[in-house]
Amino acid sequence: RAMEQKDASICFYSSDIKEGLHERARLESDLSKAIANNEIEVHYQPQVSSKDGSIIGAEALARWRHPVRGLVGPDTFIPVAESSGLILEIGNWIMKQACFQAKRWQLQGHTNFRIAVNLSSKQFTNPDLFDEVIDALTEVELDPHYLELELTESCVIEELDTALLTMKKLKDLGIALSIDDFGTGYSSLSYLKQFPMDRLKIDRSFISEITSDKESQDITKAIISMAHSLNMGVIAEGIESVEQHSFLNDIAVEELQGYYFGKPATVSDMDKMLTANKNKQ
Ligand code: C2E
Ligand code: MG
Ligand code: MG
Ligand code: MG
Repeated sequence: RAMEQKDASICFYSSDIKEGLHERARLESDLSKAIANNEIEVHYQPQVSSKDGSIIGAEALARWRHPVRGLVGPDTFIPVAESSGLILEIGNWIMKQACFQAKRWQLQGHTNFRIAVNLSSKQFTNPDLFDEVIDALTEVELDPHYLELELTESCVIEELDTALLTMKKLKDLGIALSIDDFGTGYSSLSYLKQFPMDRLKIDRSFISEITSDKESQDITKAIISMAHSLNMGVIAEGIESVEQHSFLNDIAVEELQGYYFGKPATVSDMDKMLTANKNKQ
């Protein structure tokens, strides 16, 4: 009997895995047509100055409007894009869109509007990256200074020497670099001081506990003073409440991002947010 049960469970798992593989193959095949079908969208989440709450820029966040599944989030399709190699085409398309929008908002009078774009490690190690960045910028005549690429710790820690060279070449283009989800990876201080980073993005997990947990407070304070002593800026992500906002204000975090200030929004909703923000000032 025990044997039978074991067989049954093996059978169950293997059909489960098969189903999972089918599902992934389907997603991948759909995703390969998503750009041509105009299904990839870029949403924008405002980043604000903690001084006066004015919008200084936005992070571009990818969405997939699937004809059957509806709006698919990046946590679902970015991994599929990465493992299939489609991320190179999709990522480049997103960067172009983001640069186009940033320029558009600048021309509407938000002259110092900055755009942050997430870069996956496959893109970071792609030798075509530099030309693609230059193309995206020149196509819309965006000053490189207003494009920020968000890297993750794992992206820059592997193959450290090559990564340092890539970061330096990106900085030579005049763009800004930041480390996303900072504090969740394994960057040591000695690594960090070699990185030509403009900004650290303090991970949401610290912010979500910042008003209740002493450790998260201490880590956040340590990240800030470390960043500042290395001449890097700091932006906190995932701010959802006025209490978190005022705590971060008190400890001199200069830039903030989170649902409290605005969820990732379509271009037209971002247009409205920017207009309201301008009228407020
Ligand atoms: P991320 O780069 O750390 O982006 C921040 C994520 O936190 C976004 O989720 C955003 O919607 C969410 N978020 C922002 N503020 C709050 C808040 O106050 N509360 C909560 N609970 N969440 C908040 P999203 O858009 O689902 O993106 C998830 C991840 O997918 C991103 O994390 C990023 O790693 C990846 N991703 C998104 N777009 C792209 C892209 O174009 N390329 C690449 N390579 N990765 C992307
Ligand atoms: Mg990010
Ligand atoms: Mg993040
Ligand atoms: Mg993330």
